[in-house]
Amino acid sequence: MSVASSFLFHHLQICSSKHVQFLVLTGSILVSIWKSNLAGVGEVFPGAEHRECMHHLVSNFKKRYSGKVFDDHLWAAAYSCNQYLFEKNWIAMETEKPAATNYIRKCHTKLWTRSQFSTICKVDYVTNNLAECLNSWIKPHKSMNLDDLMDKIRRMIMRKWNQRRKISKKFDGIILPHIIKDLNEKNRELNFEVEECSEDVAEVTVMGGSAFRFVVNLQDMTCSCRKWQVFGIPCKHALAFITSLSDSPLQNYVDLYYSVEKFRLAYSQPIPTMLDKSQWPKSTHEFFMHPPLLKTVAGRTKTERYKCSGEKKKKEKVPYLP
Ligand SMILES: [Zn+2]
Repeated sequence: MSVASSFLFHHLQICSSKHVQFLVLTGSILVSIWKSNLAGVGEVFPGAEHRECMHHLVSNFKKRYSGKVFDDHLWAAAYSCNQYLFEKNWIAMETEKPAATNYIRKCHTKLWTRSQFSTICKVDYVTNNLAECLNSWIKPHKSMNLDDLMDKIRRMIMRKWNQRRKISKKFDGIILPHIIKDLNEKNRELNFEVEECSEDVAEVTVMGGSAFRFVVNLQDMTCSCRKWQVFGIPCKHALAFITSLSDSPLQNYVDLYYSVEKFRLAYSQPIPTMLDKSQWPKSTHEFFMHPPLLKTVAGRTKTERYKCSGEKKKKEKVPYLP
């Protein structure tokens, strides 16, 4: 591991213990950085799961293999929460093109399917879209000098943090309102047969179509489809069982990571304020670090990042010709 990456992740660990509790509590870390730094994650966060972005995997994969079988089954394999559903998709691809599945086995060894995700962190992301959102949020300011950019990002986060802290004070109930709203909406579309085995266990069968049967255990908060364990929110099968019972509030079956209390706690500590840079303390080291010598390149400064082969290019505006 490079000294720089060790420094970065060591300080990230310190930050996470004080402010970004999400990282430590969930036991999973999302990084979107150059490869040499990835070793640092395992060293400083030894228990953290290392997942691979599915967008990047598919983009690399499509340079070598393509076809309907992969369009139908590759993303479906990533979204499969249990081993049975994953293997159905995997075998379909393997039967069609063994070289393609061997390529994934050999070159994409990190976790990329929900069927292998830990059930501790309750995070189901198969892409690094979260990091891409941050990138696009700060994009208009990327041309700033580094110190100004970092200060700008700090202020943007401070504003967002404060908004969320204020919002969190208005919430009522145990679980975040949008989670309960989503569950109530899903509840209207359910079409399952629920066969109770005991107060806590039931077989839930899909009516029409696949006729798949799943086993739900309310005591352990599990479903054999494994979505409930991975997401921390009841799956459709669990929802069918819960709502078939009288006097069984939905909020009792959502993981506490989605609780109002945890949300409040996450934003309870304000981001520290800072004076403008003319008032910053002067450094005491005995040298002056000059800014890098930059060569001016001909043409307009480039602000768009280079897109990889699989990514969609932005549509060019057609000029209006009267
Ligand atoms: Zn389920």
